[in-house]
Amino acid sequence: DGPPGDPLLDGLNPPQREAVLTTEGPVLMLAGAGTGKTAALTRRLAHLVRARLAWPSEILCVTFTNRAAREMRERVGHLIGPAVEGMPWLGTFHAIAAKMLRRHAELVGLQANYTIIDTDDQLRLLKQLIVAEGLDEKRWPARQLAGCIDRWKNRGLLPDQLDAGENEAYANGKGRAFYQLYQDRLKTLNACDFGDLLLHMLTILRGHPEVLAQYQQRFKYVMVDEYQDTNQVQYFWLRLLAQSRKNICVVGDDDQSIYSWRGAEVANILRFEKDFPGARVIRLEQNYRSTPQILAAASGLIDANTQRLGKTLWTDRHAGDRVRVIGVWDGPEEARRVGDDIERLEREGAALNQVAILVRAQYQTREFEDRFISIGLNYRIVGGFRFYERAEIRDALAYLRLIAQPADDLAFERIYNAPKRGLGAKALEKLHLLARRRGIPLAAAALEIVDTDELPARARNTFLAFMRDVARWRDLAKTQNPADLIRTVMDESGYTEALQAERTAEASGRLENLSELARAMEEYESLGDFLEHVSLVMDNEAAADEEKVTIMTMHAAKGLEFDHVFLPGWEEGVFPSQRALDEGGLASLEEERRLAYVAITRARRRCTILHAANRRIYGQWTSSIPSRFIAELPGDHVDNETTLSGGASLWRAQWTEHADPFAEVARAQPARTVTRGPGWQRAAAREFDTAPRRIAETTRSAASFAAKPRTDIEIG
Ligand code: ATP
Ligand code: MG
Repeated sequence: DGPPGDPLLDGLNPPQREAVLTTEGPVLMLAGAGTGKTAALTRRLAHLVRARLAWPSEILCVTFTNRAAREMRERVGHLIGPAVEGMPWLGTFHAIAAKMLRRHAELVGLQANYTIIDTDDQLRLLKQLIVAEGLDEKRWPARQLAGCIDRWKNRGLLPDQLDAGENEAYANGKGRAFYQLYQDRLKTLNACDFGDLLLHMLTILRGHPEVLAQYQQRFKYVMVDEYQDTNQVQYFWLRLLAQSRKNICVVGDDDQSIYSWRGAEVANILRFEKDFPGARVIRLEQNYRSTPQILAAASGLIDANTQRLGKTLWTDRHAGDRVRVIGVWDGPEEARRVGDDIERLEREGAALNQVAILVRAQYQTREFEDRFISIGLNYRIVGGFRFYERAEIRDALAYLRLIAQPADDLAFERIYNAPKRGLGAKALEKLHLLARRRGIPLAAAALEIVDTDELPARARNTFLAFMRDVARWRDLAKTQNPADLIRTVMDESGYTEALQAERTAEASGRLENLSELARAMEEYESLGDFLEHVSLVMDNEAAADEEKVTIMTMHAAKGLEFDHVFLPGWEEGVFPSQRALDEGGLASLEEERRLAYVAITRARRRCTILHAANRRIYGQWTSSIPSRFIAELPGDHVDNETTLSGGASLWRAQWTEHADPFAEVARAQPARTVTRGPGWQRAAAREFDTAPRRIAETTRSAASFAAKPRTDIEIG
């Protein structure tokens, strides 16, 4: 055992010490959120070096994000000093595999200086292949193929290892052929995609025993954080590397497995003990992160899952506030409420860096961004673009800019072929020449070129049709409000249709973002007003080191912690997501619930959950039902609050602000189908019978938004 009084063990509880000191043989640290798993892993790493059990370069340590790797490197640095600089094998799966692959690239037909292509390049490549094979890309979108290939790679499958069923997944049995073509093409380009990094390394380790032996020899110790989210190929790769010495320590929490959509398999935890017989299983039960209330709320919620190992969590931290559940009228009020709360926290001395807003879907960030900009609250969006910087939003804005300003060449370049009109770089080049020669904008040149023989007739006609569309939209802009205008433009340009044809989760996310954009535009009278607002928003990037509120998805927040956490949009169809509800299976719902558990357990001191009674979706008011997860929170640890009970004056103010929203609601089609289960009924029952009485009252009188769910379900 370690020397007594070793500062490395200072403050650690007994099971944590055990995890640090059990250096030989397989170790599985299985414990709930905030129990100091990552902390123990960090100390273990430092201990291995300090006790001279291994050189820093002989330890393989995998973290889930680059940010987590950076943090671990920093902390270990505090413990062991400059030795930490000799740690090449501390990083994410991707980073480590890429480094290895550089050394052995030739074994899979690449050169050491291979390039790693991003998703955009990947799609472009696949499109070329699909078209070259004479397939209709509309019918068999490249995105779908990319999704299949990613899935196969995540499972460690090479083209010749696909079984018939998998092969059928794309273009009636052409999946394998395209996968092979794509891999060949990448090889000619001396390139690989992200999925290849691990897959190639796996191929190399499996096919070249001498290389495998070399790494098995080198890595005296292997450690993995967030093990519950490893996928098959990562798992195979780890197992190979650790197989000879068996000094592997993995750390995870089955309740926090939230990446099955990316191929992660929580089963990897369960079979660890089988693959590494005699593994020491260490359970940590003391949570150091959160108040008892937050912990109880999260534990109570995750209890509703049937597929879990189950574990005990306790804390000796002082009691804090209960988890707050706040019902608000609509999205804008939700953003206002969160903004106000954060400003109050700031006045009370809270650091903005310690405040986070965690959303289920990217499009939810827009309302907060707009609000924070208008009240001057600094924020940063982590893991994802800020709303107005996303590709589809930029495209839509480019349409609007070209309509407002015919000389906007950048806008023209962005959209002349988005969606695909069959105009290539060649056509644009010709246009540029003409524009320069005549000293006119590209849009004007696109009209003039029609009367020349510079381009094939088809291209000229396409330009003409496009410019006619733009002219028509420009006319419309004089009479139509901006929100209707953008909807018209996106529809008539074929942009919406192209996205719909893709039929992927990503495309539907983009469509959601576009309708969110239209919604944002409803507040503006003229196109000019709106574009001005956007340019201010885009200019808002504050200095890098300033204190800021963090806005990010729940997925991206894994492993992190904040004093104050806000969780907006807890409504059926937002969270749990519509996708999870449509799929309907227990598994997808349980994954959403694990996500809720991850989200709540990010909070150290205070956790605030919000849900709105109304969301404007596709321009129509839709009544929302509070998330079933709210009903599943143990009542003793939750404070319910609703601004809808703020008295008649507030209520009336809401009414006038929205100029009779009920009339619209009554007309609105219920845009969402809700899966009915016991949880959902409980959610509804709770919402209407106990907490916000005001909703129920008003419901009766207005016979409107909340009445819908009331009549649709049979409670009890
Ligand atoms: P997650 O499941 O969310 O990744 P985790 O189990 O990795 O959580 P850590 O992030 O390592 O938990 O620790 C949570 C918090 O508890 C951190 O602020 C950490 O510094 C603190 N902590 C960990 N161990 C101890 C300890 N023995 N004494 C006091 N504080 C601790
Ligand atoms: Mg952790």
